[in-house]
Amino acid sequence: MFIVRLLLLKSLIAFILVNANVVGLEWTQYHNLDEIYEWLSELERKFSPLVTVYTIGYSYENRPIKAIKISSRPGNQAIFMESNIHAIEWISSAASTCFVNKLLHSDDKTLQDLLLRYDWFLVPVMNPDGFTYTHEINRWWRKNRKPTGFSNETGPCYGTDLNRNFNYEWKRSGFPLNDPCDHWYHGSGPDTEPEVLALQNFINQFEDDYIRLYLAMHAYGNFVLLPYGHTSEVFPPNYDQMMRIAQGFADAAAIRYNTTFQCGASGLLNYSGYVSGDAKDWIYGVKNVPFAATIELRDNGRYGFLLPADQIAEVCTELTDGMLEKNENKLILAATRKGVKPNSRDNPKCQYRTEYQPRWRSQVFILRYSNEKLIEASKA
Ligand SMILES: [Zn+2]
Repeated sequence: MFIVRLLLLKSLIAFILVNANVVGLEWTQYHNLDEIYEWLSELERKFSPLVTVYTIGYSYENRPIKAIKISSRPGNQAIFMESNIHAIEWISSAASTCFVNKLLHSDDKTLQDLLLRYDWFLVPVMNPDGFTYTHEINRWWRKNRKPTGFSNETGPCYGTDLNRNFNYEWKRSGFPLNDPCDHWYHGSGPDTEPEVLALQNFINQFEDDYIRLYLAMHAYGNFVLLPYGHTSEVFPPNYDQMMRIAQGFADAAAIRYNTTFQCGASGLLNYSGYVSGDAKDWIYGVKNVPFAATIELRDNGRYGFLLPADQIAEVCTELTDGMLEKNENKLILAATRKGVKPNSRDNPKCQYRTEYQPRWRSQVFILRYSNEKLIEASKA
């Protein structure tokens, strides 16, 4: 068995090295949707059948929502990543695509082993309409672009915060999300948005236990946010286990550039106090994936959403280090260990519960618009 694995690994590495001159994105600048999708197609052309690109659905404005799958052998369990569900957070797709590129091209033995042992999925741009809008019209856009049917003094209001629209404890948040013109509007009901449904339909086709680890990539603040978002009173059954994994990620990610990630339930740490109806809680609470996290990448507010492109490479390195966790790759192993279920609580006492308090309130921006153009951004 070991020899078979070794041979598989060797042939995979040889295959990758032969194809190592694949054209990639440049991770020295931010790219638009067409450039990211072209890169996906390029990977599929070069690496097929190792790489498959799927269109998992279409946005409100009929743009394809694409996913890449990397699978080197049958029988693997899967690690699933998504990014740019919030249009404004460009670093999320820049870092996730950079990580996938490293996964496919690295000569690091641990990365190559991860490539062999797991099926990898990435939906680089979950919100293609909003993302395109940030590139072409308004850099500060967050939501999708479906009209809400409401208007205010600035005109018709567009968009739902897709990461508040999932049908798990939807609308339970204490943060006011009911205003259809607000940046955090959760939608008129759960699961109303085509982008959310596309992801759910894609994930629903997989067998239970196939996806073992889910990472929703966001910015900013340097957090590893765990379920649940809607409460700071109730914690997931395997919260302690998830906290250890998250802490492992944070420790490894901090080594090179001394970037501090805080870990904990998003109900404790999120800037707005609570979050409900987000992807990670749906994945954990409905799909029973045993490790689900929202990773908030750089920075701590100096540049905020406008993180300069010359930091992409370092953020990508931090993400990769966190995923690798050089000390035996515990993050992945722990999360994907057979038999570990969300209800397999191994320690009823959670020492982390009260350590952190929401601390981002001072960094919430109030954005004012006139005819869809940003006229003012001030700190709340
Ligand atoms: Zn976000």
